[in-house]
Amino acid sequence: MDKQIVIVGAGVAGVNAATKLVDNGYPGKLITIIDMGKDPYNRKPEEVMTGFLGAGGWSDGKLTYHTAIGGQLSKYCGEEKAMELMDQVITNFKRFHPKPEEVQCSNPETEPEFIKPYFGLRLFPVWHVGTDYLSEIAKNWYDYLVSKGVEFQWETKVTKINFKHNIVVTNASEVDNFTLEYDELIFAVGKSGIDFAQQLANEYELPDEPKSVQIGVRFEAPQKHFQKLIDISYDFKLYRKFDDKGVSLRSFCTNNNAAYVAVEETYGDHSYNGHAKKDEAYRNDMTNFGILMEINGIEDPFTWSRDVVNKLQSNGTGLYYSPSRRPSTTSEGNEVTSTPISIDTLTHVVEPAMGGYFKYVMDFIQDMKKVFPTLQHDWGIYIPEVKYLSPEVKVNYENLSLIDYPNVHFVGDALSARGITVSGAQAIYVAENLIK
Ligand SMILES: Cc1cc2nc3c(=O)[nH]c(=O)nc-3n(C[C@H](O)[C@H](O)[C@H](O)COP(=O)(O)OP(=O)(O)OC[C@H]3O[C@@H](n4cnc5c(N)ncnc54)[C@H](O)[C@@H]3O)c2cc1C
Repeated sequence: MDKQIVIVGAGVAGVNAATKLVDNGYPGKLITIIDMGKDPYNRKPEEVMTGFLGAGGWSDGKLTYHTAIGGQLSKYCGEEKAMELMDQVITNFKRFHPKPEEVQCSNPETEPEFIKPYFGLRLFPVWHVGTDYLSEIAKNWYDYLVSKGVEFQWETKVTKINFKHNIVVTNASEVDNFTLEYDELIFAVGKSGIDFAQQLANEYELPDEPKSVQIGVRFEAPQKHFQKLIDISYDFKLYRKFDDKGVSLRSFCTNNNAAYVAVEETYGDHSYNGHAKKDEAYRNDMTNFGILMEINGIEDPFTWSRDVVNKLQSNGTGLYYSPSRRPSTTSEGNEVTSTPISIDTLTHVVEPAMGGYFKYVMDFIQDMKKVFPTLQHDWGIYIPEVKYLSPEVKVNYENLSLIDYPNVHFVGDALSARGITVSGAQAIYVAENLIK
């Protein structure tokens, strides 16, 4: 246990990896975590993507507990191990939670008749940590790692990594020559580091797995219309497939009770997401979820998605369409930034910008009106919602290391994850291997 371990990214993955290491007696002083964001005492709520506990670990906190959700895990380590690793992530969130007894699991079991024949419903358990507690969890967790001697470098962006000579270069290097040598590197840059991951993949010609496009809208409506389904499954996942067209759709990341739409800024463009507050004071009785299309067969999914998102900007922000409503407010009381558009713009701008695929989203909404009859015109959509999937580099399955650089481990959204539990689980998997 005397190797210098450098972790790039103090997000869900990086933090879980460090925790597993020090929990098993790995000397904290041999672990350095570099992050371009801030520590949890200085990080602001609106700094959604960067800083301690990364993206969803800071602003949402729904821990899905199924290997079919949240990206690749069992592919690498097998089903049984995957569940055990996810358990460890959930335990960590409870362990640093100020009120662990409030972390609850919803676990729906049967697909209800009334959604058939229009939709299928994916059923899986979800642990709800509560958005309002995430900042306190982060502080407790951070204090623990600091007490174990883990070194953190905040507001420091890694700009280069020399895989051949095991050196990490940061933006501080020009000023005070801050470079770091590592024996083992855990690369956990998440969604905010997707460009950097791509840069490294290009530079080192890392082979990767084929990917799909994930794009759609954030749908929002008063919760009462969906209550019948929410009672069965809080974070319901409606889905449908058009195999012959290479498209499938699913509702994604449902928020209820105190549900707010959030603007995400990536590459200078706006897209949408959502989060829920646990505190009753924030209750607005709204529901929001993504309606996401998974489109296969597009040659360069990443560039295609970026281009679509760029075409869907107006007045420096994304679009909002509703047959009857106005954009809602954020939990800070501001209107969700968006440009309201007409049905005409929806047909003549959005549909072609999305390469003719937008009609599947509208069909989805039409059919929701049949299944939830009170819905009718009482809904709105924020356009677009997008998941930029990082290139999934090919790794050795036993420790998620690069094929040609066995001391470099890719984890979390930077590998193939799309959620908190899977990201954390992949990182713990790597840490377990390093301890061995
Ligand atoms: C608004 C929002 C809500 C979400 N809600 C949920 C949810 O409820 N449930 C769920 O399962 N998933 C959710 N997700 C997805 C989830 O957050 C991610 O899957 C998860 O955070 C990925 O973990 P990670 O450690 O790989 O990356 P992240 O958690 O994103 O952390 C990456 C870290 O790397 C740092 N970084 C990036 N590039 C560099 C660099 N070059 N140099 C230094 N540091 C760098 C960033 O500052 C960041 O702190 C949500 C995502 C968003 C954006």
